[in-house]
Amino acid sequence: MTKPEQQETHDAIIIGAGVTGIFMLHKLLGMGMDVTVVEAAARLGGTWNKNRYPGCRFDSESYSYGYTFSKEIFEEWKWSEHFAGQPETLRYLEFVVDKLGLIDHMQFGCTVKTATYDEEGRCWHVELEGGRTLSARYLCTAIGLLSAPTLPRIDGMGDFEGESFHTYDWPEEEVVLAGKRVAVIGTGATGVQIISEIADKVDQLTVFQRRPNWCAPLHNSPVDDQTHEDFKSRFDEWVELIQASPSGFAHQPIIRRTKDVPKEERYAFWEELYASPGFGIWVGNYFDATLDPEANAEFSEFIARKTRERIDDPEVADILIPKDHGFGTRRVPLETRYYEQYNRDNVRLVDVSKSPIECITAKGIKTAEEEHEFDLIIYATGFDAITGAFDRMEIIGRDGEKLADKWMDGPQTYMGIQVPGFPNLLTLAGPQSASHGSNFPPAIEAVCGWACGLIEYMRDNGYETCEPTNAAHEEWEKSVREAYGNTLIPTAKSWFTGYNSNIEGHDKMRYLVYLRGAVNFRSELVDVSSNGYRGFDIR
Ligand code: NAP
Repeated sequence: MTKPEQQETHDAIIIGAGVTGIFMLHKLLGMGMDVTVVEAAARLGGTWNKNRYPGCRFDSESYSYGYTFSKEIFEEWKWSEHFAGQPETLRYLEFVVDKLGLIDHMQFGCTVKTATYDEEGRCWHVELEGGRTLSARYLCTAIGLLSAPTLPRIDGMGDFEGESFHTYDWPEEEVVLAGKRVAVIGTGATGVQIISEIADKVDQLTVFQRRPNWCAPLHNSPVDDQTHEDFKSRFDEWVELIQASPSGFAHQPIIRRTKDVPKEERYAFWEELYASPGFGIWVGNYFDATLDPEANAEFSEFIARKTRERIDDPEVADILIPKDHGFGTRRVPLETRYYEQYNRDNVRLVDVSKSPIECITAKGIKTAEEEHEFDLIIYATGFDAITGAFDRMEIIGRDGEKLADKWMDGPQTYMGIQVPGFPNLLTLAGPQSASHGSNFPPAIEAVCGWACGLIEYMRDNGYETCEPTNAAHEEWEKSVREAYGNTLIPTAKSWFTGYNSNIEGHDKMRYLVYLRGAVNFRSELVDVSSNGYRGFDIR
């Protein structure tokens, strides 16, 4: 392949200006490289720019979601809440970019159409929508794990005369909710947040739920000045705590089996977890709560009881309590007065599993039983997780092989960072890395740091290309699969297991996530690099 004339050339191109792209850019610039970020949106922030729906916030403790690589940034940015909302997180990322002087290295409104490996030039050519091309030795994808939204496949969606949008495409301008009859389809983490937030702001809210999720209280609260000072003074200790946690959150699993703890003691502990902020209830529980079917069933029953206590109508409660999977086998939505919203007169729950949606009409949603009229339909129907963002562009490796074809039956990677046949493509936050199975920013700091170490090693030794061997990839694949088998995760259909009913072919298990935890993942990274980048063919 010959390089087009007058092509913009860099050492590295990063696709995406979200949490990952920002950090990778900072690291590569620090190594003296010529780097550019191409971002499809008109501004930075990735997920935190796009998800503007009411109630959007993270479930990680704010101080564990912010970057940990810079004490100065940690100290300078004061979070207003223990679990900050989307506008604040976006402001935080803007602050980081400003502080590190990164904006001039970012190009916005640049959607990547194709990325093609040039064997002869040992570089990647990237073609943007509109025809402009760039090239670089290294191509780094920082395209998010939940950035390809999926709409349901329901007849008549285009006929609806009111407003409708997917939560990911929530408009920047204000959406008037007061006085509106609103439908929300979907009750994952997004649906749960939006329902909780808007129930008392709209005229009528109708929730269309197919399968309920196990939810638990977030217990958010403001951060006062004293607390911020405490965090500042404990920076090293705090980072250590996060680094030592398999989940990357400020919670550690309890290394005791559920049944080894006397009943009274374990129920008292569970009550404590239910009353505590954040993901402790999921990842700070007895370690076997999501591994052992018996322990999981008992804990799920505890959560079912807590849930029932909050809902007035037992029939509604019954619809809201999962029967097809145990607690924590899918992503647990954390909520603020979610279940109490179903006690309101203006909120109605439709069980789509019993009353399927037949079609969308000009006026609303028609189920087998009735036609519901709406002014606004909100699709909180999730994402083509992890691989979806890759499929939206054409990535072509050696000998014209397309990544989408290679990954047709599930992703194939080594360390979640590279793919055989795609030299110098670094899939940061790609499938089979730990960034999806743990708190995202700390995981991504580890992955980007490691990828930069690899680039530095290549540069120092005069190497030009790097890709995994097939043998290393196969071994990695096997280990990722085996890790699934050690948990109860495969017992539930969700994006963790690669299912999405709205996409053809995504009706079977795919192994998308590294489930051995952040601590093990970091050790594997170190083990590979300290053994001469074992499993990589570096030339
Ligand atoms: P999701 O968890 O995949 O949930 C999608 C929802 O839409 C499910 O309830 C699903 O039902 C329903 N659905 C999809 N297609 C449907 C159809 N054709 N008919 C009826 N219902 C349909 O997606 P999400 O809620 O957007 O969350 C995705 C991930 O984003 C989360 O797991 C989390 O990692 C992340 N997130 C994080 C936060 C946070 O940090 N606080 C907030 C929001 C999201 P079924 O369950 O039956 O498939």
